[in-house]
Amino acid sequence: MHKFVYDFAEGNKDLKDLLGGKGANLAEMTNLGLPVPAGFTITTEACQQYLADGSHPDGLGAELDEHLAGLESTMGRRLGDPADPLLVSVRSGAKFSMPGMMETVLNVGLNDESVAGLAAQARNGQAGNEDNDRFAWDSYRRLIQMFGKTVCDVPGGEFEEELHRAKQAKGVKDDVQLDAEDLRALVTAYKKVFSKHVGHEFPQDPRQQLDLAIEAVFRSWNADRAVLYRRQERIPADLGTAVNVVAMVFGNLGPDSGTGVAFTRDPATGETGIYGDYLQNAQGEDVVAGIRNTLPLADLEKIDKKSYDELLTIMATLEGHYHDLCDIEFTIERGKLWMLQTRVGKRTAAAAFTIAAQLVDEGMIDLDEALTRVSGAQLAQLMFPRFDMSGEPAPITRGVGASPGAAFGEVVFTARRAVELAAEDRAVILVRRETNPDDLPGMIAAQGILTSRGGKTSHAAVVARGMGKTCVCGADQMEVGSDQFSVDGHVVREGDVVSIDGTTGRVYLGEVPVRPSEVVQYFEGDLDPALANEPLVAAVHLLMTHADERRRLRVRTNADTGTDAARARRFGAQGVGLCRTEHMFLGDRRELVERLILARAERERSEALAALQPLQRADFLEIFREMNGLPVTVRLIDPPLHEFLPSLEDLAVQVAVAKERGEQAERDERMLAAVRRMHEQNPMLGLRGVRLGLVIPGLFGMQVRAIAEAAVALAREGGHPRPEIMVPLVGAVQELETVRTEAEKIIAEVVGDSGVEVLIGTMIEVPRAALTAGQIAEAAEFFSFGTNDLTQMGWGFSRDDVEGAFFWRYLELGIFGISPFESIDRDGVGRLVRIAAEEGRATRPRLKLGVCGEHGGDPESVHFFHEVGLDYVSCSPFRVPVARLEAGRAAI
Ligand code: PEP
Ligand code: MG
Repeated sequence: MHKFVYDFAEGNKDLKDLLGGKGANLAEMTNLGLPVPAGFTITTEACQQYLADGSHPDGLGAELDEHLAGLESTMGRRLGDPADPLLVSVRSGAKFSMPGMMETVLNVGLNDESVAGLAAQARNGQAGNEDNDRFAWDSYRRLIQMFGKTVCDVPGGEFEEELHRAKQAKGVKDDVQLDAEDLRALVTAYKKVFSKHVGHEFPQDPRQQLDLAIEAVFRSWNADRAVLYRRQERIPADLGTAVNVVAMVFGNLGPDSGTGVAFTRDPATGETGIYGDYLQNAQGEDVVAGIRNTLPLADLEKIDKKSYDELLTIMATLEGHYHDLCDIEFTIERGKLWMLQTRVGKRTAAAAFTIAAQLVDEGMIDLDEALTRVSGAQLAQLMFPRFDMSGEPAPITRGVGASPGAAFGEVVFTARRAVELAAEDRAVILVRRETNPDDLPGMIAAQGILTSRGGKTSHAAVVARGMGKTCVCGADQMEVGSDQFSVDGHVVREGDVVSIDGTTGRVYLGEVPVRPSEVVQYFEGDLDPALANEPLVAAVHLLMTHADERRRLRVRTNADTGTDAARARRFGAQGVGLCRTEHMFLGDRRELVERLILARAERERSEALAALQPLQRADFLEIFREMNGLPVTVRLIDPPLHEFLPSLEDLAVQVAVAKERGEQAERDERMLAAVRRMHEQNPMLGLRGVRLGLVIPGLFGMQVRAIAEAAVALAREGGHPRPEIMVPLVGAVQELETVRTEAEKIIAEVVGDSGVEVLIGTMIEVPRAALTAGQIAEAAEFFSFGTNDLTQMGWGFSRDDVEGAFFWRYLELGIFGISPFESIDRDGVGRLVRIAAEEGRATRPRLKLGVCGEHGGDPESVHFFHEVGLDYVSCSPFRVPVARLEAGRAAI
């Protein structure tokens, strides 16, 4: 038979699924012998059945009878007894905390008769009847108000109006100035409001009140705000809430009563000490409503030393028991302390690290456990400079927080202007509708990038993350023109200052001050010595060291320059997993690429390639040097070559204008013809990657030669280069074999007896490659999963377009909880990775496996790559510490 109701003494903290967080922890505290008011919990399963069937599940009524009888006998009072009533609170409590989203009804059991019994109880031998009568009538009017609103959907405003009227009639401002008689009259008025809306009188039967209140809490699981909150917090919709029925204790019985909240450590910084608030002569809802100012918890020592000391002892017990920061709600009723709730408390990222390290120091948890208490997302938060929000600036608009950080500067609208102003040491924010590879120099020069179009995998976002540069994209309320943007009535021109927050996506007018991250200074090795003993820095050091000891996955970086490679190495990268060589074809070198594309004769082509080769060799040598002794994967050129040519529209205009003026435009005309020839409807599925290598003679060969020569040059300097050549977009083993045959010939020629060893492998980023990985492994010494393209082609989602276009709807419908470009889709794209890993290794057991798509730095995805047995993940330099930490966590 199903058990739907648990006394507090029957549960424990591990039953959160069934009893909800509040119920499970009340049970745990009860069993620890702490002073918890007696009560019981109705399970989430009962709620699920109620929501499915619309009525109490069979058997629940009988169980409730039994547990209520038990509660009455423990308390020595009967629910709603006219002479000496037991009153209960009926509180929601789901598995995950959903603060304020669901309902609570207090004082259940009061009616026209028991209100007198409550007054007598409160009197309890004391003098001063008026106060106790007042308390009883106030409790009753609160019940009618809460019950009416929650259980019977009476508009809350009508009760407020009556209360307001009562105060006006008496000429007072505060609720507390109403006396017992006033409140008795208010109860009459409230009952009228109730019956007018509900069609019957306020129920006098205590048991009926209880049953209806329980149902209302069940139903509140599906209240609009709860549904919205769950969607935002990604809490599953089918969990249901538990309901806690607890004997009432009162913090509003006089100056020797009160209510408060406490934390066992500071949830903002993690420091140990006494943190919390206390409100004398009040109930919990008064604290939340902010009716009176609370006192710091430490003041309770002067008010009620006995309860204060007991509370500190209990806090120590709870920490010792949960081995973590706990937050607590308590009430003092006439000098007697009661614990109403505890849970492992929420905390900031800084506090998470500091507390985990403190608990290790205090011997409460071991290092493995400490690693589970922090996350890569928290570490990432600690690595970005932050805005100092003390001035409470108001944003002018909001986009997608695409690359975290805080940046401010003068607005510029072209990459050229960004470079010019940066050369004068001026901070700039590059604002574009969207960015393209041409904007790269401007992106490098700018402090931050702001676009009105595109999502988290747009060009701007991906490149900015790669550089660790702040970026807000897709701020679609903005109208971006060529020399100004406007939003919400503001017009912002070149030179005006804006501040952008790449974490929240917020955009501010003017300069919001920024603080640098001491955690990055620590990773960079240039920490101000005065900060070396900062608890946060020491905690990060302790946990990173342990993560490195535990992890099996190696962590490499995606880097296209020596500077990026060097920084990533300082951050702990163990090699380069992806060097995108096309980034070396920009700027001044573009002209050489144009010559290559426009070449009419073999000789012209060879000359263009010969001019590019030494430049490439120098690029590679710089990276090999910085990564001396560590592997460096260089990917042969990937994007369609027309990306390096001017736009069709611009050129057509240029040629037309020249013709009109009767000027010579032979080169432009040739270029225009080439651009027309190379134009593709679907460039992402067109002439790119290995296809370019097979179609344009000498292109890959030039790159292979440059790689091999750079490696030999470093070896001659006494270094230890470990180059790996990677072929992009392979879908069939034959493609790879063709490239490989040519490459091996060149490598043999260049390397000679220098001792340099060059590996040749491929990206797995086309679904067909994943499905034929067993064959492809015949020709590859390593695979690196290009999960950006694998997601694009696996889902058929254009990575540059879809996020801003319709992902919001997919997220709303719950088709996925997070963009598959951000976090690996385990079931689909992940399955392709798993198949390729297994079949590749079946062919070649020592096949090296890595991932270099954006997912390589995503915490959740790192765990997946650990599970499927990859050797390494590769990510942008700033994500390297995050990946190290998550790889350590995955191994526990
Ligand atoms: C990928 O597709 O995952 C990848 C790393 O290559 P790119 O992002 O350069 O297409
Ligand atoms: Mg790719």
